[in-house]
Amino acid sequence: MDNKRRGLLIIISGPSGAGKGTICKSFMERNEDVVLSVSATTRSPRKGEVEGVNYYFMSKEEFKDKIKSNDFLEYAEVYDNYYGTPKSNVEEVLESGKDVILEIDIQGALKVKENTQEGVFVFILPPSMEELKQRIINRGSETQESLMKRFKSAYKEINFVSKYNYAVVNDEVELAVEKLEAIIAAEKCRVDRIKDNILDSKEGEIHEQLYD
Ligand code: 5GP
Repeated sequence: MDNKRRGLLIIISGPSGAGKGTICKSFMERNEDVVLSVSATTRSPRKGEVEGVNYYFMSKEEFKDKIKSNDFLEYAEVYDNYYGTPKSNVEEVLESGKDVILEIDIQGALKVKENTQEGVFVFILPPSMEELKQRIINRGSETQESLMKRFKSAYKEINFVSKYNYAVVNDEVELAVEKLEAIIAAEKCRVDRIKDNILDSKEGEIHEQLYD
């Protein structure tokens, strides 16, 4: 029997400026087996961003066609642009047994929660609201108008933490990454995830099922 365990679907979100991008980047450097899903977006590339690595950049028309053909696991309109998670890539990786991280906004995370039974939902919190404001300003790539938009939505978004399974405060990136690793390790030990595999195991295989 093929007892291969399906990978974990890990959804990471949090308000703009909480540092989820930095945490994900550092996490990916330390966990090469985990796959970071590449989203599609209609916003223009920022300096240094690479097609197919940071995002699949596309026009609104292309994006809407993909919505029609049901190509997205979720999509959302964020700051006047569309962002979406291509469905087939994610499914393929999970089936292969690898874990996938979706770094997406809160609307998107809630849609994933509605549409699938699986998912480990992690909310990244800033150490304080003042710090959040500073981080958004320090980014420097925004106009005054879009800064104000980001502040406002960040304040609102903090309330959604209650919809998530875990909250990680990002005061130090390394500590936050360690917490994320601990969350994933704990999820892989959950009895409801692994009991069928254990009960189906032949004698001597349990160790493999738990620790592969
Ligand atoms: P940015 O423009 O700074 O790269 O991203 C803006 C926001 O869009 C961030 O909160 C980011 O997490 C979110 N985002 C990126 N990709 C996706 C996606 O595929 N779906 C959704 N719902 N949000 C996304």
